[in-house]
Amino acid sequence: MTLDGKAALVTGGSRGIGEAVAIRLAEEGADVALTYHSQAGRAADVVDRIKALGRRAWAVQADGADAQAVLAAVEGAAAEFGRLDILVNNAGVGALGPLAELSLDDVDRALAVNVRAPFLLAQAATAHMADGGRIINIGSCMAERAAFPGGSLYATSKTALTGLTKALARELGPRGITANLIHPGPVDTDMNPADGESAAFQSGFTALGRYGRPSEIAATVAHLAGDSGRYLTGASIAVDGGFAA
Ligand code: NDP
Repeated sequence: MTLDGKAALVTGGSRGIGEAVAIRLAEEGADVALTYHSQAGRAADVVDRIKALGRRAWAVQADGADAQAVLAAVEGAAAEFGRLDILVNNAGVGALGPLAELSLDDVDRALAVNVRAPFLLAQAATAHMADGGRIINIGSCMAERAAFPGGSLYATSKTALTGLTKALARELGPRGITANLIHPGPVDTDMNPADGESAAFQSGFTALGRYGRPSEIAATVAHLAGDSGRYLTGASIAVDGGFAA
């Protein structure tokens, strides 16, 4: 196992991409802490599946818009496992809609969950990380290509992660801590179901002509988290079926 003895924190690990990432990291040998927003039952299921793999698991409720809850999640994970090696900043909100219809509350919430929380999580997690740690941020293909209208707020929030990731890579490089950003294309989750209204439209923007599966994003996270990712930092990696091609 490549991640034996490592401890990971995955935000938004109760469903979708975060769930697949949490399970995959556990399969690779890591103990996994995860956050959720409101689906305590789903989070408990993921915890049970990780424990069934013989790994330790812990879940905590944390709205990304609540800075204190986010910071408490880091402290709780580090206390639970006695270490923290891998942070996956996955939790995010969709925040799509026509420019004229986005409210100030929409803007504040999207920036708090999609930008401020990953910043605070990285800041708090690196205080616990030993040399060789990993920060993996989940962005979006819409940060690379505004293929259709309605993405102004979402793309703004996800593009901010490019700056965060590069600056973290530069600052933490001397400690052997890497920071990278994955830009998923359309991935079949509750946020963006592959049988949803706009699914055919979105698939049409990809070179492969289909939605991705959460496990296909988790595979790249596992690559970055393991020893395989040790010389890869500051990068934005499109795992998008060619959406940005
Ligand atoms: P889902 O909506 O399927 O799952 C979202 C996860 O985040 C859940 O675990 C949810 O918890 C948690 N969450 C939701 N709202 C908040 C909040 N306010 N604060 C903290 N956690 C929250 O999303 P996906 O798996 O599709 O998306 C995961 C990431 O990937 C997001 O950052 C998203 O922007 C990005 N992405 C997704 C794409 C897609 O097509 N699916 C494409 C490109 C990027 P709970 O279960 O408790 O509600």
